[in-house]
Amino acid sequence: MEPLPQPSLESLSTVRADGSRRYVYTADVSGRFATVRRASSAVLLAVYLALPWIPVNGYPAVFLDVENRRFHLFGLTLAAQDMWLLFFLISGLGFSLFFVTALFGRVWCGWACPQTIFLDHVYRRIERWTEGDAVRRRALQAAPLGPVKILRRTAKHALYLLVSAVVAHMFLAYFASVPSLWRMMEAAPTEHWSAFVFIGTLTAVLYFNFAWFREQLCVVICPYGRLQSALVDDHSLIIGYDRTRGEPRAGLREARDPKGGPAGDCIDCHRCVAVCPTGIDIRQGLQLECIACTACVDACDEVMDRIHRPRGLIRYDSQAGLGGRRTRWIRPRTALYGVLLAIGAGVATWALSTVRPANLGVTRMIGAPYIVDSAFVRNQFLVRIVNKSTEPRRFVLELDGARADIRRAGFTVPVEVPPLGEVVQPLVLQEPRPSYSGPFSFVVRVRDEEARFELDRKVRFLGPDLELLREADRDEGAGEARP
Ligand code: SF4
Ligand code: SF4
Repeated sequence: MEPLPQPSLESLSTVRADGSRRYVYTADVSGRFATVRRASSAVLLAVYLALPWIPVNGYPAVFLDVENRRFHLFGLTLAAQDMWLLFFLISGLGFSLFFVTALFGRVWCGWACPQTIFLDHVYRRIERWTEGDAVRRRALQAAPLGPVKILRRTAKHALYLLVSAVVAHMFLAYFASVPSLWRMMEAAPTEHWSAFVFIGTLTAVLYFNFAWFREQLCVVICPYGRLQSALVDDHSLIIGYDRTRGEPRAGLREARDPKGGPAGDCIDCHRCVAVCPTGIDIRQGLQLECIACTACVDACDEVMDRIHRPRGLIRYDSQAGLGGRRTRWIRPRTALYGVLLAIGAGVATWALSTVRPANLGVTRMIGAPYIVDSAFVRNQFLVRIVNKSTEPRRFVLELDGARADIRRAGFTVPVEVPPLGEVVQPLVLQEPRPSYSGPFSFVVRVRDEEARFELDRKVRFLGPDLELLREADRDEGAGEARP
């Protein structure tokens, strides 16, 4: 049987000297953080899986309806035209992550990241259930292939595949809604082959990730993990080992014997390494692989309880705190991230407040910007009205600031737009040639017939240079007068 890894700072703890993968057999742990993490993970799992099922305003709480280009977020419906809001959403999330990381380190990774939640609280549970604790799993790995090994491995991988397929279906429900997902499941795969391929691929990716790749995703792929060293400093909260208190390490006997010479509280039992899901030794200091899962805190607290030493040899603290200095919460980095976060949140709130139940777009038709004939100067537009509400609405179009003699074709009567639908119609404006006095700006206003809201677009009526037009009129008049 392969001995427990002896992590080193020279290389990744999960990579052997020859470059091959060292699989981590994470030991079980219990304690105060494990209990709270179990509870919070159960809540988060329920949230991840339930969001497509909970109706808000007639639609799932989160429904990214890519097919119809409508995005429903907790009762707010956004159309493709509102996608500029994504900029604020993504930058707001980025600033929040910067701010939280500068203060609390990798709290997201350890407590809320779906990779950690599903791996620790779903797939590792299946592993424990089918193959036993870490010692048994190691023994099973080392054992020759036999009926028991085949049976346990088959059960584990069958359950992994089943759970991966369920998670893949739930993920698709965010984009297709639960009823349409159900209809697709009832139909033959050939009727929805793209969804079928998506589900198959995602199931395979999830299975590969959670059955084999595991912590490598955090260490090798996740960009947030790689950014850590740039985001945290000596005063950020991390999981750390109190070297002053723990060193020099001693065996259990010396630790229990006060006369046994100077000995630190660490009895070098390696329990903190055995429970670490990324296989590192936190006593070597802060490392890229640490996802702040708190397993080593619970493990070491349990050891400290047994040898009657105070808890907290491994604990939440800053590097400054672990070195005996005072932790500073307010510092240039946190102040800067805080200000950016406040600005981002303010702008995002304003941007969200501008979202209306409908969208209006006015574009000039392709071709010449204006047309001049013997009687009129004509401008042609396409007006697009998108109804983002779940009920049909009738819209009235008005022109504000247009000259009184402008004649209009299109939108002369109220237009009904179906729920989550859109209407695109031409709007043709003509100004009699004799009264034309040059280009001007006006507002196209679309009003909900019940006057609950209105939408404006400023537009310019274009036409020829007035002097040239009058000159052309005079020439035409002279030509007609000439015998
Ligand atoms: S669990 Fe605590 S006592 Fe045991 S090796 Fe780790 S730090 Fe030392
Ligand atoms: S060092 Fe501790 S907190 Fe970090 S990943 Fe390992 S067990 Fe979790």
